[in-house]
Amino acid sequence: MHDLVIIGGGGAGLTAAIKAKKTNMDARITLINKESVSYSPCSLPFVISGEIEGLDRISHDLREICKEDEITCVIDTVTSIDVKKKVVKVGSGREFPYTSLIIATGSLPSIPPTQGIDLKGVYTLQWIEDAQAILEELRAAKNAVVIGGGSVGLEMAEAFIKRGIKVTMIQRSGHVLRRSLDPEFSKMVEDELMRNGVEILFNTPVKEIRGEGGHVNAVVTPNGEIPADIVLFGVGAVPNVELARNAGIKVDEGGIDTDDLMQTNIDDVYAAGDCVDSMSIVTGKLMLSQLGTTAIRQGTVAGMNAVGGYVTFEGVLNSMVLKLFDLEVGRTGLTVKDAEAEGIKVVIGTAVGKTKAEYFPGAKDVKIKLVFNALNRRLIGAQIAGAEGVAGKIDLLAFAIANNAEIVDLMKLKYCYTPPITPSHNLIVLAAENAFKKLRRFIEVRKRRF
Ligand SMILES: Cc1cc2nc3c(=O)[nH]c(=O)nc-3n(C[C@H](O)[C@H](O)[C@H](O)COP(=O)(O)OP(=O)(O)OC[C@H]3O[C@@H](n4cnc5c(N)ncnc54)[C@H](O)[C@@H]3O)c2cc1C
Repeated sequence: MHDLVIIGGGGAGLTAAIKAKKTNMDARITLINKESVSYSPCSLPFVISGEIEGLDRISHDLREICKEDEITCVIDTVTSIDVKKKVVKVGSGREFPYTSLIIATGSLPSIPPTQGIDLKGVYTLQWIEDAQAILEELRAAKNAVVIGGGSVGLEMAEAFIKRGIKVTMIQRSGHVLRRSLDPEFSKMVEDELMRNGVEILFNTPVKEIRGEGGHVNAVVTPNGEIPADIVLFGVGAVPNVELARNAGIKVDEGGIDTDDLMQTNIDDVYAAGDCVDSMSIVTGKLMLSQLGTTAIRQGTVAGMNAVGGYVTFEGVLNSMVLKLFDLEVGRTGLTVKDAEAEGIKVVIGTAVGKTKAEYFPGAKDVKIKLVFNALNRRLIGAQIAGAEGVAGKIDLLAFAIANNAEIVDLMKLKYCYTPPITPSHNLIVLAAENAFKKLRRFIEVRKRRF
């Protein structure tokens, strides 16, 4: 009999448990999670905005889900792993011996050391309890300050606006989504936020958070004080690796080190999700992914392999899509900034057009940017912003990157068309043609030099 123990019942851990059971029906699987409630953290900003009615709509009993798949569910906190004796210990003192182990402990919100972070009314958004507390706080709030222009910060800025609260966003650098998008795409996001009432302070550090009677009332910057009844830190998350590190499991760029099978440096110990380092498909380098999509795929691979399957994890492109007010924005692979940092010479193809045939009522603007490696002509990145249809295009372009598509492959894309949904000239094809023209110019210029 094979005993699999999984630590963490989020996207990675629960997926691992279910896939392991499907792979090996005889395996005895135990999932240990701190909380009894199962939910997707991705849904939390939309409950706070009021678009999803209440936290009950997004939460389920983890024990019930496990019961359906004959997985033993233990609600407790794992306090130690002994990789020599192959046993994990939980807070209540019980011990769980294992044949294979999967660590899926997720991430922890990162909060820069700032005076005043312990005041009531200062939050991060990582868990359902955070959402619950923010929802209660919202009833009396008039002014919100969001610190950090990452995806969670942006979604929360929109959520506060939708609740009728004035929002000031404080961004340390010159653009929001600085790590995900090139500046012109960040600018489109910023314009959309500002059009909808979000005030953004760029290049502004936070000096201190002030309060009265133990509750926040202002955020102090070098340019003055911003009134705040609620403050949200949206400055990212760090892998939750303490348990693994204490057990002697190798931790790399911040996350647990795994091979293509999602196995750690210790035999029979696997890891998946936000707590691991992932490899970029384009550069082959380690990076943090911290996406639900990555957690699910890594959980699948770890779960199957931990009970005798053989599946490999192919790496990440960090495809991402966000909807902010009336704008959808998506990205995959490398931005131009990323490529330059890697020393890759690029050719860029751009196209602007409409989301439907341009004569069709309701056709809206859309902009696309394709980033190609100038030396081998392969697609290495893409960004799209528009009113609708962004996610499907990003998925297609991610597939193209993963399968080494070149400029000419995208120029020959066999696409579909009908006026109410698509324009007759596909924007991916137009952007690829634009890159092709630039590449020919690049080749001509080189020829003339010799
Ligand atoms: C607000 C928000 C919005 C997001 N939106 C998106 C989105 O739109 N798209 C997207 O792709 N991604 C999104 N993400 C990221 C995505 O939610 C995460 O990448 C994903 O949840 C990671 O899954 P995980 O299983 O690795 O970690 P988690 O879901 O965090 O699960 C880890 C689990 O392990 C448990 N645990 C930790 N330590 C122990 C221990 N010692 N003992 C027992 N249990 C333990 C925790 O309690 C938790 O239940 C969002 C994240 C947040 C916070």
